[in-house]
Amino acid sequence: MVATPIQQKYEIKDIGLAPIGKQRIEWAGREMPVLRQIKERYSIEKPFAGIRISACCHVTTETANLAIALKAGGADAVLIASNPLSTQDDVAACLVADYGIPVYAIKGEDNETYHRHVQIALDHKPNIIIDDGCDVVATLVKERQYQLSDIIGTTEETTTGIVRLQAMLRDGVLTFPAMNVNDAETKHFFDNRYGTGQSTLDGVIRATNILLAGKTLVVAGYGWCGKGVAMRARGLGANVIVTEINAVRAIEAAMDGFRVMPMGEAAKEGDIFVTVTGNKHVIRGEHFDVMKDGAIVCNSGHFDIEIDLEALRAKASEVKTVRNFTEQYNLSTGKAIVVIGEGRLVNLAAAEGHPSAVMDMSFANQALGAEYLVKNKGQLAPGIYSIPYEVDQEIARIKLKAMGISLDSLTEDQLTYINSWTSGT
Ligand code: NAD
Ligand code: SAH
Repeated sequence: MVATPIQQKYEIKDIGLAPIGKQRIEWAGREMPVLRQIKERYSIEKPFAGIRISACCHVTTETANLAIALKAGGADAVLIASNPLSTQDDVAACLVADYGIPVYAIKGEDNETYHRHVQIALDHKPNIIIDDGCDVVATLVKERQYQLSDIIGTTEETTTGIVRLQAMLRDGVLTFPAMNVNDAETKHFFDNRYGTGQSTLDGVIRATNILLAGKTLVVAGYGWCGKGVAMRARGLGANVIVTEINAVRAIEAAMDGFRVMPMGEAAKEGDIFVTVTGNKHVIRGEHFDVMKDGAIVCNSGHFDIEIDLEALRAKASEVKTVRNFTEQYNLSTGKAIVVIGEGRLVNLAAAEGHPSAVMDMSFANQALGAEYLVKNKGQLAPGIYSIPYEVDQEIARIKLKAMGISLDSLTEDQLTYINSWTSGT
């Protein structure tokens, strides 16, 4: 194990990459008008003056724009990666070199380093945690109860993180407020659906350069992410099959025009498989056994557990890298299965994650959620809080304006009508 001297202010691949990172962060910023407006206000109002923030997010050009906004608001912020394979090393370098934000993240770091960085985020003694998947909060609660008095609250980015916070609440161990960023409409409607839809296929295509038209693509899970992946894959000409465990979602998929069947059957038909369930071992040994030779498997859901890679490894006589982030498992049966991005989020491992235009709204929710916690310090009981409706609407209004789209507004007469029960039909 490599000891990290506590005085070391960052752990990144190469500080020399900063100029490339700067250019790319600024490019992303062009598509982030909501966050830009928030940053401008923060630089005047300084809502985070004296506040220590530990952020655990994918270290991308979009996260960089969030970190810069928090710093403009006076935060003493550190950033760690929320996935061992998602870091953009040039972005990490720029944040350290040009903005003085300590970053602990290297693309391809091993699991031990990833968890050591979680500890470093906690060494920062955060008042606010910005989490993506709940790893920092879970470690705080499991291992560092003595730091709870420093905590004002946490904000959580993703579906699986919310599922974990709900489990903590049920077990009575969530002793501070948590802002549910994922469930804001301006987050999951766009990020989970259109973001995952586009960036997942971007990852598959960059990794394999495969033609999707005419291929059979199996999407496991028809939640917000699954809907996006299925919709965009169809747009590229793939025949899409959906697998589900939830009856309502399965009807939705069927009525959206997709074939729905259990993975045991879909496994025989698919050329490409994408898991987006947040669940464990959705593709496992029995499925690999019946897949076609050359089937491509990847995950865009949670961490690296949706595909049972251990089972696949046990069947393989050889594993070889065939392209960047792409490994071919040659099975003893003579068949090959291709895995992208080690079963980790394909959109962030093999591509750049969601485009900035959707992350603009997700991270506006993060920034405003964190600000809400600070403003209401000491007044919120432990629990999971929605982003206030007015905040969600305001983010949508700014975004719409930046997109050059105008809304209708209610007439006095309409307002009276929709608020009345006496006017009849
Ligand atoms: P969701 O809850 O809306 O959808 C998940 C769906 O998977 C549900 O419909 C559920 O019934 C289904 N499911 C669960 N177990 C299954 C199984 N064994 N087989 C088939 N279906 C199963 O969640 P979501 O918002 O779509 O998020 C899905 C996952 O993606 C989460 O882990 C989330 O954190 C992650 N996520 C990833 C990205 C990304 O950038 N790649 C973006 C947003 C969310
Ligand atoms: N840390 C876990 C949790 C899932 S990450 C893991 O790595 O498996 C899923 C989250 O990544 C989404 O909620 C989305 O908001 C975020 N994300 C997607 N593209 C991103 C980008 N370009 N920059 C930062 N975060 C991004």
